[in-house]
Amino acid sequence: MKIRAVFLTVILSLLVISSGFAQRTIIHAGTLIDGVSDEARTEVSILIEDNKITGVEKGYIAGNNNDQIIDLKSKTVLPGLIDLHVHLESETNPQKYLEEFTFNEADFAMRSTAFAKRTLMAGFTTVRELGGSGVNISLRNAINQGYVDGPRVITVGKSLATTGGHADPTNGWKNDLMGNPGPTEGVVNGVAEARQGVRQRYKEGSDHIKITATGGVLSVAKSGDAPQFFEDELDAIVQTANEYGMHVAAHAHGEEGMKRAVEAGVLTIEHGTHMSTEVMDLMIKNGTYYVPTISAGKWVAEKAKVEGYYPDLVVPKALEIGPKIQNTFAEAYNHGVKIAFGTDAGVFPHGLNGKEFRYMTEVGMPVMEAIKSATITGATVLGMENQIGTIEVGKLADIVATDTNPLNDVTALESVSFVMKDGIIYKN
Ligand SMILES: [Zn+2]
Repeated sequence: MKIRAVFLTVILSLLVISSGFAQRTIIHAGTLIDGVSDEARTEVSILIEDNKITGVEKGYIAGNNNDQIIDLKSKTVLPGLIDLHVHLESETNPQKYLEEFTFNEADFAMRSTAFAKRTLMAGFTTVRELGGSGVNISLRNAINQGYVDGPRVITVGKSLATTGGHADPTNGWKNDLMGNPGPTEGVVNGVAEARQGVRQRYKEGSDHIKITATGGVLSVAKSGDAPQFFEDELDAIVQTANEYGMHVAAHAHGEEGMKRAVEAGVLTIEHGTHMSTEVMDLMIKNGTYYVPTISAGKWVAEKAKVEGYYPDLVVPKALEIGPKIQNTFAEAYNHGVKIAFGTDAGVFPHGLNGKEFRYMTEVGMPVMEAIKSATITGATVLGMENQIGTIEVGKLADIVATDTNPLNDVTALESVSFVMKDGIIYKN
């Protein structure tokens, strides 16, 4: 009894201490782009307790002795950035195709922690991971548990493809290594396997589903844009995913595969290279988002000119598709398609995600809109618009800052100098 009483007293006093001395953080923001308003504000205080924003107030609040004051008076403060298309398990290099034969899962995993950290330091506090071997699920968990510094990861695990399709992991391998990958490995054919592929991802812990609706640039296969799923397979995937509360992201370059995916009800179209006005209209009607990944297009078009950087089968696809994406983005934006920010980082070096802002704005999107595509719109695609994407009371404290105002010079977003995620400061 006595021990229990002592124990209770200790617990109670700890509770009193922790509530009485809960440290508050106050950010003094010289300029604030909050993700809600279309105008920036000046001289604002952001109050943070634990991992939540508890106040956004005019002027520089002094606070009390226990408050931690962060002076960002010379900086522009924004919500943490969201990239809806990254691949944290890998990064472009001429040896990448060989790594599939020389790397163990642990090699991919160890390296992914460095890519994750670089991404966070670039100001991206949340990413949607659009497919690797599935190691990214462990990466997400390690970050959530505080073992690894990285962005909040929402992941699809392994992408779903049909046999020989863009995410068939054995494309280009010799016969005895190829085997016959199935739903467990993310390769599905027909309705039953399509459902099984989704359920397998759910079982492994994927948050959402990614499909490769058409051919792709970097797979060792001939076509970059042929449709790779039939309507019944797409319907089965989207229906099954939605029943588990998962959305579907569709990689697509060619028009027919893109159209089928939009009609089946995918939430996002990735790359969208040969998007026709018919498809744009369909996307507007269905509320489908376009995630352009202009950065990846530019990178592959550039590297395809370097002898031996990509396999021979990849080069003509990279030269044809890569340069077109920025123009498709401009057309889709002008047509009124909803745009959500995504880069395909991994296809180019991690940490350069912020360059996408430059590419979006140089063909006509205002900077404020580009920022919203990477904050509140990204959050909405993830169904997390009540938690992240703006600097408002009640949201998680995901806050970044740039030295100069990106509304005057968009390249400021390529060198973020302050990063807070979930109330913890990672860069100052
Ligand atoms: Zn990708």
